[in-house]
Amino acid sequence: MSNLNQLTIHEAHRLLREKQVSSVELTKACLERIRKVEPEVHALVTVTDELALEQARKADELLAAGDTHPLTGIPAVIKDNMCTRGIRTTCSSKMLENFVPPYDATVVEKLKGHNPVILGKSNMDEFAMGSSTEHSAFFPTHNPWDVSRVPGGSSGGSAVVVAADEAIYALGSDTGGSIRQPAGFCSVTGLKPTYGRVSRYGLVAFASSLDQIGPLTRDVADCALVMNAIAGYDSRDSTSVPHPTPDYTQCLTGDIKGLRIGVPKEYFVEGMQAEVAAAIRDAVARLEESGVSADWEVSLPHTRYALAAYYIIAPSEASANLARYDGVKYGFSAQEADSMFDAMEKTRQYGFGPEVKRRIMLGTYALSAGYYDAWYLKAQRIRTIIRREFDRAFEKFDALVTPTSPTVPFKIGEKVDDPLQMYLSDVCTLPINIAGLPAISIPAGFADGLPIGMQIIGKPFSEETLLKIAHAFQQATDWHKRRSSI
Ligand code: GLN
Repeated sequence: MSNLNQLTIHEAHRLLREKQVSSVELTKACLERIRKVEPEVHALVTVTDELALEQARKADELLAAGDTHPLTGIPAVIKDNMCTRGIRTTCSSKMLENFVPPYDATVVEKLKGHNPVILGKSNMDEFAMGSSTEHSAFFPTHNPWDVSRVPGGSSGGSAVVVAADEAIYALGSDTGGSIRQPAGFCSVTGLKPTYGRVSRYGLVAFASSLDQIGPLTRDVADCALVMNAIAGYDSRDSTSVPHPTPDYTQCLTGDIKGLRIGVPKEYFVEGMQAEVAAAIRDAVARLEESGVSADWEVSLPHTRYALAAYYIIAPSEASANLARYDGVKYGFSAQEADSMFDAMEKTRQYGFGPEVKRRIMLGTYALSAGYYDAWYLKAQRIRTIIRREFDRAFEKFDALVTPTSPTVPFKIGEKVDDPLQMYLSDVCTLPINIAGLPAISIPAGFADGLPIGMQIIGKPFSEETLLKIAHAFQQATDWHKRRSSI
């Protein structure tokens, strides 16, 4: 048996049910691991060890009394942009450094309904703006496969706690790739659900028409279990869709014969690392061996405008969403000021980091009178075109397969002063948020010991198809079972 902190949810659940281990033992193994590796990876902003042990004791009582829910007593970490009642929720920003929410996000409330163990809150790029977790106002997070490299972002902390065996699973959020790209960089499984599938209530808003919460796990089966707990309609989120929630574990049959996948050529972008392209070709060949038919000639020509459209739409929405941080309602407030305006200015000057300020300025500019039509409206039109292009592709295919990122994890410091290079690391994931589609990233190989992720994209509400294909791939490969040596 592997160490307790290395188990999947389904393995840990079986041991809990068979009374071979207790939730307290599982939790202590994770906390021990956190103490050991945190000084190297810095994935957590807050560790809630006392609360975790208390929740574990309660879970053990429930398990003894016959509770059989697969998440009962399983230790998890939550990205620090999801509100947790009584637990600091910082968004890795000085603005919210001491913010303790008086309520739980819907996803947290839903998880709590199944008596999980919450180990803590994970580090992220400030307000989820970034691709490397270097834009955290507190400290950068390091990749366990090579600590001189980034774990991806913005959910870098959530990916690392799973990859470095600090937690059994984690929640992340994805606005342009922030679940999938770090999942790819850390060799874990990460799902960005269809827009509207999982409630955003209590998720600190970045770009509301793009944000979506999802799981980061050790395998696809675990991903299905977490989706069962967090998906579903929520009247408190006006964009939540009242679509029936299936049992996501039912689709994990391993049988993918006859499914049709397309491999769009535009996702093998210029500058893509050769090993990444090769790994994805091999992975598609594996899928073909399992009975899938693959078409390599698919073209989605408007993909090339997705990045430009995203960097108009996301900053525009961010500039509106972040207007609420004025030092009055909650969060950081500059005390020494000559006037109300001076106080607001100082609050925002000190409270926000450089990347957040860059986005606010971009967004404010794009939305200003005289520029609105040229930028924001144009970007929205491109958005429609991209969405339709995907719709047409899904008339022919059950799923599309692409690399998750053009490269393996880069060095800490390599791109942090070059925003354009940083933005490019999401070229394969951004179009999916633009179109509101679901997509999963799963481990698909290594180049010189550094992880490579494969992205599988589906039509709206086809999470089951994605999980089915991804699960069959994990039955045929063992990339997802490899552990970093940290
Ligand atoms: N890296 C992209 C950005 O910086 C996406 C981030 C995200 O998905 N939250 O906006």
